[in-house]
Amino acid sequence: MNAGIPAASGHAAAEQVLDVHETACCVVGGGPGGLMLALLLARRGVPVTLLEAHATFDRDFRGDTVHPAILEILDEIGLADRLHQRQHVKMYGPTIPTADGPVMLFDMRLLLKTRFPYIMWMPQPIFLDFLATAGRECPSFRLVMGATVRQLLTEDGAVRGVRYRDTDGWHAVRAALTVAADGRFSRLRKLAGLRAIPTSSPVELLWFRLPRLAGDPEGTGIVSPRFGKKQVLLMIDRADHWQVGYFFPAGDYPKLRAAGVEVMRQSIVALEPRFAENVQALTDWKQFSLLSVASSRCPRWYRPGLLMIGDAAHTMTPAAGAGIKYAIEDAVVAANMLAEPLLARGVRLSDLAEVQRRREWPTRLIQAFGAWGLRQLGGRLRSGSAGPVPRWLPWLFRLPFVARLAARMLAFGVWRVHVESSIVPTTRLPV
Ligand SMILES: Cc1cc2nc3c(=O)[nH]c(=O)nc-3n(C[C@H](O)[C@H](O)[C@H](O)COP(=O)(O)OP(=O)(O)OC[C@H]3O[C@@H](n4cnc5c(N)ncnc54)[C@H](O)[C@@H]3O)c2cc1C
Repeated sequence: MNAGIPAASGHAAAEQVLDVHETACCVVGGGPGGLMLALLLARRGVPVTLLEAHATFDRDFRGDTVHPAILEILDEIGLADRLHQRQHVKMYGPTIPTADGPVMLFDMRLLLKTRFPYIMWMPQPIFLDFLATAGRECPSFRLVMGATVRQLLTEDGAVRGVRYRDTDGWHAVRAALTVAADGRFSRLRKLAGLRAIPTSSPVELLWFRLPRLAGDPEGTGIVSPRFGKKQVLLMIDRADHWQVGYFFPAGDYPKLRAAGVEVMRQSIVALEPRFAENVQALTDWKQFSLLSVASSRCPRWYRPGLLMIGDAAHTMTPAAGAGIKYAIEDAVVAANMLAEPLLARGVRLSDLAEVQRRREWPTRLIQAFGAWGLRQLGGRLRSGSAGPVPRWLPWLFRLPFVARLAARMLAFGVWRVHVESSIVPTTRLPV
């Protein structure tokens, strides 16, 4: 055991630790939730160390949406205009295919009280890099990339930091508070003995890229679904390629594989004939990732010295399309509640419980909606009636109050979250 380091959970605890860093808050996971929390705490002058397992932010299994609620939050801390200078496209409302062609269900420009009546589509690596860059402008922000947390440090039953590995070996971070923002497969959740309970049944999909070819329509960033009887194809236009989700009845993957890549290519083209050329790039099953998506939620998001936020506390499904928004809103509430106690190095268990209390109901609500969406999708895929979209649906959204309510819910949800005035800079940072 290294002198001065509390007991470590997990194996390899006896290996040599190269250095021990002291900080007020150690955030594990540089996704949207972890980065936003570290940024806000550092803005308030709290010493914070953020540990991210990957060496870069460049990953595939991520959403690309920045909702109006998040753009407003970034505006509150003076960063929205800077963000708009990075590569993005704007989506003003969801578009669905109908027998009469594509229809925009409702238009968020109905929302008059926001500067940002659109969902910004920004490749997540760019968004995360933006948050990291803003964080690095604060003297008390420390980001370590390529740092995989493997163990918790505990003292008298409380978490007091972590041990992580990088290419050099083992390191330790001692902290008054450790925040697990390490996503849906959270290692910290397991190490802390906290458990997540499923809140929806799983839906299976294949997730893959198609090349963008000369002659493809201009990159709009729009998500377009295509409905077959037993398949739904979700096409996300990512400017330099197409990100595609192919939903099929749960349990059918062995059958799909046995039929072969050529049959898979034909099935994609049957759903979207425009991809006839693009699918020629699919030659091997290695190009497809099989994902099983379901939501889950932890009954308890904390224990002494440890708080979970984002997908670690409540895994979201793509059906709700708002996991990034919820992770960032958790981070804002956590920063509002914990910045002062962290500056005084006196975080109480009741402070952590209050973060969960404030975030639990919004989370329950969106998960119930997402679970309903997945149930509908799963049932329709199984019964072979996935499409088309019912004819009455676009008509329903022509009612002004329905369209306005839907736009508000999509943009902001039920509960708005704001950054505490002590974190908001009094003078705006240069754009
Ligand atoms: C296929 C798919 C599509 C989606 N599309 C959307 C969408 O369009 N819009 C939307 O809002 N949401 C979408 N989501 C959900 C969204 O991606 C998540 O809800 C959101 O990313 C959660 O943010 P987070 O910060 O909690 O965790 P994550 O974004 O998962 O970030 C966790 C981070 O922790 C790091 N990490 C993990 N373990 C360790 C460790 N031991 N040590 C150090 N670092 C570690 C990971 O590398 C990662 O960077 C989608 C999800 C899936 C699966």
